[in-house]
Amino acid sequence: MANGKPAGVRCIQLGDDLRCMIFGDPRRPACCAGLQPSAQMCGATDDARGHALAWLTQLEIDTQPD
Ligand code: SF4
Repeated sequence: MANGKPAGVRCIQLGDDLRCMIFGDPRRPACCAGLQPSAQMCGATDDARGHALAWLTQLEIDTQPD
């Protein structure tokens, strides 16, 4: 759990338009600003969001503590 929510739970700052409601605000967690898009995360298809969600889910599984 980071920043008060478990992985996979929708952030309360995520708007209905899928944009961060505190983007550019100093209250935005540093981990959010540190996550930069990459070809590895976003893939090479038109479905970058779907690819990123699958990639992040796998990353979460791969880094689960034993
Ligand atoms: S960038 Fe961070 S604070 Fe903003 S919606 Fe995404 S997870 Fe939430």
